[in-house]
Amino acid sequence: MTISRFIPPQRTLMGPGPSDVSPRVLQALAQPTIGHLDPLFVGMMDEVKALLQYAFQTENAFTIAVSAPGSAGMETCFVNLIEPGDTVIVCRNGVFGERMRENVERCGATAVMVDDEWGKPVDPAKVEAALKANPEASVVAFVHAETSTGALSDAKTLSALAREHDCLTIVDAVTSLGGVPLLVDEWQLDAVYSGSQKCLSCVPGLSPVTFSPRAVEKMQQRTGKVQSWFLDQSLVLGYWSGEGKRSYHHTAPVNSLYALHESLLMLKEEGLENAWQRHRDMHELLKAELEALGVNFLVEPDHRLPQLNAVAVPEGVDDAAVRAKLLNDYNLEIGAGLGALAGKAWRIGLMGYAAKRENVALCAKALKDVLG
Ligand code: PLP
Repeated sequence: MTISRFIPPQRTLMGPGPSDVSPRVLQALAQPTIGHLDPLFVGMMDEVKALLQYAFQTENAFTIAVSAPGSAGMETCFVNLIEPGDTVIVCRNGVFGERMRENVERCGATAVMVDDEWGKPVDPAKVEAALKANPEASVVAFVHAETSTGALSDAKTLSALAREHDCLTIVDAVTSLGGVPLLVDEWQLDAVYSGSQKCLSCVPGLSPVTFSPRAVEKMQQRTGKVQSWFLDQSLVLGYWSGEGKRSYHHTAPVNSLYALHESLLMLKEEGLENAWQRHRDMHELLKAELEALGVNFLVEPDHRLPQLNAVAVPEGVDDAAVRAKLLNDYNLEIGAGLGALAGKAWRIGLMGYAAKRENVALCAKALKDVLG
């Protein structure tokens, strides 16, 4: 076997992530690697923290990027906040709610499931009923933007309910951060995790997380050790916290953090509200194009994610053949249906740098050609 350099093609990424990475972020990634305890790098990490606080709209001091993808951010929240014997209300309206259940059970806790149909948001009335029926519950966990279905849930209302019942919230904001309003402090969310590769349009492999003072207090009151050494935030914090005394925990993904810094800076330069509006505008453009092609959305208009357009594969159309043609002939990636929606849905992403007119036009033209 002869192995030569791998030169990837220039695709347009309009799936569920990763999304198109801007040339500015790719350039940042290609800068010289410096030591992860180099004072200049440590200074840059402080800026990443400040930029993440802006993106999350929080003043939480404990706001960092976990050195691993969104799934590790998810696991970080669960392993640090849940102890064996705890009861957690887990909302499941797609693939990622089910993963939350897995996490809860692997922590030795009981997951009380609140189920909603795929494509529907989490129903606050069901969550309230579960909270009333399980007064021992200490956490409510839900996915803000379900990437598997394209549905947005009402994080503000769910958080208020959790607080009324003295529960913390664990919130999956992997697809929501940077794409739709997410106001961590105003909504009083407690543990929120995201991913670098969706609406931040950075390379995959980092997971921004933020913990409220209430969540930090709960971690400090743990009776047992966190079962994961790598994700134990009491150890990681020594590396991310300032005061000039960084201690080695693991070797940070230096260049990926340059890239995250650049992508967050781009978000700050654009302004969060403008970024949210751009996602909405591009969604409206795409919606008009798709409807003209007779392609129907799976989610009701009020709960649709602008950055993840889940549509039904039209009757009689070969899902995989269409996606393969888009990829091979147009260098365009759209997402397949996941879990219960496999073979039945396409997920068309308009995330971060990919949420632009040229992409909407390319996708509309390519789908029109391929669907004939
Ligand atoms: N949660 C949601 C809502 C996601 O969409 C994803 C990834 O698509 C994840 C969690 C897991 O993130 P990652 O694939 O970066 O581990």
